[in-house]
Amino acid sequence: MPRQIVIFGQESIIRHVLASPGNSQFEDTVPTSSTRSLKDAPLDWTVILFVTLSPLVSAAGAAWWIASGHFHAATLWLALGFATATGLAVTAGYHRMFAHRAFEAPWITRLALLLTASAGFQNSALVWAIGHRKHHRYLDGPGDPYGINHGFWYAHFLWMFRQVQWQKGDPVPPDLLADPLVRFQHRFYAPLSGIFGLALPTAIASLWGDPWGGFFVAGLARIVINHHLTFAINSVCHTFGSQPYSSKHTGRDHWFTATLTYGEGYHNFHHEFPGDYRNGHKPWHWDPTKWLVYTLGRAGLASNLRMVSDAMIEGRRARQTARRSGTSQVDTAVHTSTAPQAPTAARANSASQGHAARAVNATSRA
Ligand SMILES: [Zn+2]
Ligand SMILES: [Zn+2]
Repeated sequence: MPRQIVIFGQESIIRHVLASPGNSQFEDTVPTSSTRSLKDAPLDWTVILFVTLSPLVSAAGAAWWIASGHFHAATLWLALGFATATGLAVTAGYHRMFAHRAFEAPWITRLALLLTASAGFQNSALVWAIGHRKHHRYLDGPGDPYGINHGFWYAHFLWMFRQVQWQKGDPVPPDLLADPLVRFQHRFYAPLSGIFGLALPTAIASLWGDPWGGFFVAGLARIVINHHLTFAINSVCHTFGSQPYSSKHTGRDHWFTATLTYGEGYHNFHHEFPGDYRNGHKPWHWDPTKWLVYTLGRAGLASNLRMVSDAMIEGRRARQTARRSGTSQVDTAVHTSTAPQAPTAARANSASQGHAARAVNATSRA
């Protein structure tokens, strides 16, 4: 019997339909109402004002910071540290763990990732993950919340100007709903983001007498830069780059973007194998998020790191090569040979078990 759940009384914003209380298969609960017309969605003035004004305010603040003699090198290192920490918390936490369940983690890891990611001003993990699951489920179609089919700049950030990602009546996946830390972060997202994203860097930089640098540079400017690097995944990585695994969708591998986005730029691979905890699957691929998750696994702070097998990856690559060269015979042969493996993937019980694996359903999960 379906039951409605409203978290924390935010009835106008959050309403959940939990069809199967015991069902943790998030794939079955991706919202289906996202095909609603974008033009019908109301403008989100909070996002519009923040996204348009934050670059201007941070640039003006940073210019004043330098011109007025407040510049302090330690503040730049602080900004770099905050950018890296918050960026990795979003990619490892919001993206690979909460959106794709590419690995599991105990409460201490989840809490650390949620609090750190709050400082990135990218909304709560709940909202982020639901929008991202829609992106994968409705990729390149009308229900894709940041589909490149609406244009480069729409996919980059204009999509946020309308309340299309989170709509009244959309169901919340039970796996996210069941996590009290996800609910906590969602409920207190605004104060958490203010405290960890702006107040904390301001307080730390005040230790060496540079609170304004902490606010404008390690706080606001760092948020703006990380914002647009994240946005580039949806715009640049759906427009430029290679498609070694599939050209049936717009996701592309763009190594330069990967270097700036903690490994997220291997986007053709990611859209083919979204349940894999790696985006850059080769050891030499620049994917700091993968290395972080692997390290957490080695330390006992992450488990069940999911990977597709090398054979499956190479099979997908061979199929794409055959498709490109127009050798449909080869295409058919490769497709046939890989078809029985399609629902399988490697899953390491922990990183300490390396790439040894037991099969689980990990491909084509969104
Ligand atoms: Zn994408
Ligand atoms: Zn994804």
